[in-house]
Amino acid sequence: MASFDYDLIVIGSGPAGQRAAIQAAKLGKKTALVERKAVLGGVCINTGTIPSKTLREAVLYLQQNVPYEVGKANYREIARGQIIGDDIGILKLLFHRDTRELLGVHIIGESASELVHIGQAVLTFGGKIDYFITNVFNYPRLAEDYKIAAFDGVNRLAN
Ligand SMILES: Cc1cc2nc3c(=O)[nH]c(=O)nc-3n(C[C@H](O)[C@H](O)[C@H](O)COP(=O)(O)OP(=O)(O)OC[C@H]3O[C@@H](n4cnc5c(N)ncnc54)[C@H](O)[C@@H]3O)c2cc1C
Repeated sequence: MASFDYDLIVIGSGPAGQRAAIQAAKLGKKTALVERKAVLGGVCINTGTIPSKTLREAVLYLQQNVPYEVGKANYREIARGQIIGDDIGILKLLFHRDTRELLGVHIIGESASELVHIGQAVLTFGGKIDYFITNVFNYPRLAEDYKIAAFDGVNRLAN
């Protein structure tokens, strides 16, 4: 039977477990993190916090009869996503079908908290989906997902 020697074993990969494991590793402790589910991230990433906010926002737009369209890009479709091996990351843009104004940005995946500020800036100045198409997004970086999602959304307008 295999045997392991750790300073700390963290059970659960939600926000609490992740922070505990990272902190212990930073302090030089040999740390293992155990998760019973097939995906990491706990309630926050998979079923609670982020999914519920995504659902809420979509319902609000539907109630207001805003004619919106969606553009999506998976991390696994872009070079950076493949380099870091993030198979579940996704970036989604909501924009007005007629004015093409950006209405919302959802990101789940590696560095989402860093990436979302790009969408926030475009929302703040009332930018359109076209912003992501006409401006440069470095390659191979995760921000390239904005461009891929924008092309996906604009292509849906044609259908
Ligand atoms: C609908 C909903 C909306 C929410 N909205 C917000 C919000 O807007 N803002 C906010 O700050 N918070 C929100 N929360 C709360 C937030 O999601 C939780 O506070 C947070 O996820 C708790 O983190 P945690 O690491 O303690 O536990 P969890 O995220 O529950 O993670 C626990 C992990 O441990 C694993 N696990 C459990 N037992 C074992 C075992 N025996 N062996 C191995 N693995 C195990 C589980 O599979 C899970 O992955 C929301 C929660 C819900 C349900």
